[in-house]
Amino acid sequence: MSRPAGRIGSPETFTDEHRALAATALRFSKEMVLPVASRIEAKDFTLLKELIRKAGALGLIGVDLEAEYGGLALDVTSTLLVAESKSLLGSWSVTFGAQTCIGTLPIAFFGTAAQKAKYLPGLCSGETVSAYALTEAGSGSDALGAKTRAVKSADGRHWVLDGSKQYITNAGFADVFIVFAKVDGERFTAFIVDRDTPGLTIGAEEHKMGIRGSSTCPLTFEGALVPVENLLGVEGRGHVIAFNILNLGRLKLGAGVLGSMKHHLAASLEYVSARTQFGTALVRFGLTREKLARMTASIYAVESMAYRTGGLIDAHLATGASKLEAVEQFVIESSILKVLGSEALGTVIDDAVQLHGGAGYIEDYPVERAYRDARINRIFEGTNEINRLLVTGTLLKRVTRGTLTLDAPPVDDSPSGRLKTLAYECLMTAVETLGPSLEHHQLVLASVSDLLMEAFSLESVVARNRQLEGAAPWRKAVESWCIEGSHHRAQQSARRVYGSVLEGEARAKAMTRARALQVIPDESPEAMHETIAAAVEAARGYPS
Ligand SMILES: Cc1cc2nc3c(=O)[nH]c(=O)nc-3n(C[C@H](O)[C@H](O)[C@H](O)COP(=O)(O)OP(=O)(O)OC[C@H]3O[C@@H](n4cnc5c(N)ncnc54)[C@H](O)[C@@H]3O)c2cc1C
Repeated sequence: MSRPAGRIGSPETFTDEHRALAATALRFSKEMVLPVASRIEAKDFTLLKELIRKAGALGLIGVDLEAEYGGLALDVTSTLLVAESKSLLGSWSVTFGAQTCIGTLPIAFFGTAAQKAKYLPGLCSGETVSAYALTEAGSGSDALGAKTRAVKSADGRHWVLDGSKQYITNAGFADVFIVFAKVDGERFTAFIVDRDTPGLTIGAEEHKMGIRGSSTCPLTFEGALVPVENLLGVEGRGHVIAFNILNLGRLKLGAGVLGSMKHHLAASLEYVSARTQFGTALVRFGLTREKLARMTASIYAVESMAYRTGGLIDAHLATGASKLEAVEQFVIESSILKVLGSEALGTVIDDAVQLHGGAGYIEDYPVERAYRDARINRIFEGTNEINRLLVTGTLLKRVTRGTLTLDAPPVDDSPSGRLKTLAYECLMTAVETLGPSLEHHQLVLASVSDLLMEAFSLESVVARNRQLEGAAPWRKAVESWCIEGSHHRAQQSARRVYGSVLEGEARAKAMTRARALQVIPDESPEAMHETIAAAVEAARGYPS
């Protein structure tokens, strides 16, 4: 699968194979998952396991796995397409995500030949279910602060694990766990732990706000005996596994939200088209059309970023890099996608609830569940605060290591060029003013990240539209919408940076430069909404 040279990845550059895979995955969600949503929400784990097996039989679990283990070994764009298509129901999405990504890929990417041969065929077919156990009561965001210990048994045949984990997805029925523990209380290391390991106890299910059909339990290790050959990767290098796998998880989460957003845009359109108030279908009201337009613009921005990033990673894969190396190059983009994707999901589903009025608050309507389900996405796979800190933090780390230079972007007076320039100026001002102490100024770091994220998002939309010959009017209207929103938010972030690090005349001048960014679109906002809403109506959902 490959893209024509010189183009950024986007839905318009998908190959026939990409489209066929996405159609299969979407059909699975619509025909196999949504019809049994209420049974899933009631925690019917027998059904959930059966669905995992069925997804495995269709090849959907093994997209990233090698053919010798039953996988399809496809590119990252394919992985993202499956992530998007499986996300119509939160509980299924999280269950499937743990199985295909964080529970299985540690073995695929870091396992020995024997470990892969033993575990991957079952994980790929869905006969075996996996889970990823990193979080502990005392260490969530600070994952390396884990207290779970591993010591070698006297006879040298086992690792003896003591400690506990919490909030582990799939734990209620998983057969195998990727567990992180510190050897001799010091060297952070990953282990493959079978469910029937003596000394491992799975605790009771948590009662959650959302994704209630997914399993989330604590684990307790009391002298748990793990065979020595189940150490995964290199002793003391567990952080490499933990963080690389989370990077992929973030990427998939960022693309995954698209499925839910598109689904609930279509469902909201159907609702507002059918319901009448004041003798008029809701869909005809200007404020309804504004929401449909806003939802569509948010989806378009995330979609543009997601498949651009997928394309960038695939281009790197094409140079001979492994999937792990290729993803590692794009950790900043993965964090951006995770943050902006999960936040877009929050606002899109919020609009969907509002369009349903009182019905949106009633359990009979799927959007009520979606509202509760959406919230977790800002918390797991690294909270959005941690990912915001990572965006600027990783960038600066690369500069310090000499793998990246901070060159001013080329002079470009386009809206996306101006935003990039402002982001660059804010970053440089923060670096030059605060020096190494910048890492202690979280508000500044996060505000710079917000600017970088807005720049990446807007550039992705603009570049996508530019490569479409005669882009449809709704796409141009979405672009105008994105320019206005990105510039507005970027101005606020720039004011926070300049206000925090500069004083006196320098501060006043910088604030004036930030104010000058805003591009006010020529089009009337009403006309812009109308163009987008009409396209949504014509497509009966997200237009593509
Ligand atoms: C439903 C569910 C499923 C999950 N599945 C899994 C799983 O399968 N495997 C697994 O290992 N874990 C899982 N988790 C755990 C999840 O990854 C953690 O909850 C998450 O990383 C946050 O950790 P925490 O809960 O300890 O919050 P904390 O780290 O205590 O954070 C609390 C708040 O403080 C903020 N904060 C923390 N540190 C900083 C800082 N340095 N600077 C600024 N703000 C900060 C956070 O952003 C957050 O807003 C799951 C959690 C839930 C709820």
